Amino acid sequence: MTDESRLESLDALVSLCKRRGYIFQSSEIYGGLNGFWDYGPLGVELRRRIFDSWWSTMVSRREDVVGMDASIITHPRVWEASGHVESFYDMMVDCRECNRRFRLDHLIQDAVDNGTLDAIFPDRDNSAAPAEGELPTRCPACAGELTEPRQFALMFETRVGAATDSKSVAYLRPETAQAIFVNFKNVQMSSRQKVPFGIAQVGKAFRNEVTPRNFTFRSREFEQMEMEFFVHPDEERQWFDYWIDARHAWYEQLGIDPTRLRRRDHAKDELAHYASYTTDVEYQFPFGWAELEGVANRGNFDLTQHGEHSGKDQAYFDPTRNEKYVPSVIETSAGLDRTLLTVLADAYALDEIAGEERTVLRLAPHLAPRQVAVFPLSKKLGEPARKLADDLRKRFHAIYDDSGSIGKRYRREDEVGTPYCVTLDFETLEDDAVTVRDRDTTEQERIGLSALGDYLGERLRR
Ligand code: ATP
Repeated sequence: MTDESRLESLDALVSLCKRRGYIFQSSEIYGGLNGFWDYGPLGVELRRRIFDSWWSTMVSRREDVVGMDASIITHPRVWEASGHVESFYDMMVDCRECNRRFRLDHLIQDAVDNGTLDAIFPDRDNSAAPAEGELPTRCPACAGELTEPRQFALMFETRVGAATDSKSVAYLRPETAQAIFVNFKNVQMSSRQKVPFGIAQVGKAFRNEVTPRNFTFRSREFEQMEMEFFVHPDEERQWFDYWIDARHAWYEQLGIDPTRLRRRDHAKDELAHYASYTTDVEYQFPFGWAELEGVANRGNFDLTQHGEHSGKDQAYFDPTRNEKYVPSVIETSAGLDRTLLTVLADAYALDEIAGEERTVLRLAPHLAPRQVAVFPLSKKLGEPARKLADDLRKRFHAIYDDSGSIGKRYRREDEVGTPYCVTLDFETLEDDAVTVRDRDTTEQERIGLSALGDYLGERLRR
């Protein structure tokens, strides 16, 4: 093997995902719908594996976190109490010349990051970064004049029931967290948990993003994996530190290159209205560093708000401390789609074997959606090879493939990230052994059929 190169732009990944059945544009035959994506046969398997990894790390293997699954549409007052109806907006500007639309905070941040402030603030001394509230005057794309900033509501509205008056308005949830807060008492009492403890949920969230972009990174429909950990107010900092370490470690367990992961504390003016401090876990994508997950200290904002708006006291009596208080909350909020994109982007590599270039997804073996491919060397060996694939399928996600040369079959599996290919040849009929080829090293080993299941099982386990 010679030097390998990594993903330089998302375009190559977008095309691999379509070609191999990871991710398709939603409603593609109708021209697509911006900000929506569909997962194909391999994408849906990878999603499940990431979900399982999160759920077992955050819920099944812990005594102090329990799960729940709430409805997507809730009582609209939930979103009044949470502050979303009033403040879940992005500011946007349009270019009067080229009609491009920008999210104001992104426009300014991109110019700061790229050293191009002069393009959007032509009449300003740009040796210092713009102060909060300073407005750009020119479009970064065409230098055209920009409109005044306008508010853009991020929540999707819908209607519940037959009436069409204002009382029937409801929202598709923009985050899964609120349904956890409004079920705090139900879950705490029914599961007999004592503070400190957490409630976890995975599910769809919807945001009418101003500028969906970077493939699935910023979509309008996406899945969140959130956990709200309820603590005594004196213990906020220690639990926050605990969770940011734990969450950072999870991305490393997924096999993501640790040198492409970092943490970033939010500056005061970036903090959400409910948070006193937040740290993001970020990944270095081909388009720059970007958030994978936010760990936030939400204090007792949400429980207090829901207590006031519903008239149902959300205070908790702590039997250990003999004290009644509204717990503080440390939130860990990750995106399933964003994690999946990260796993794929990080695994993507181009290298050369015996003078031939190949594309390979170096997925961690425990995440690979297809774990084993079984090839007969010749179609004449189809029957025993099919039988082997059927046997392996009882334990692994395995396929049978007899089309094209063995080299071609290897390339296909490399591109989807299959860690092991098993070739059955004429000798197999004599020695009951097969050749197992490793995706990453491309080395081949002769393994007895009776030992094959355990050989693969050991390597595909986390
Ligand atoms: P931004 O400011 O970038 O719009 P945010 O900080 O409001 O995003 P959070 O509310 O913290 O995002 O969302 C928590 C997590 O949910 C994010 O870290 C991300 O993984 C995921 N997420 C949020 N918005 C989207 C989206 N539009 N598409 C895909 N995933 C998203």
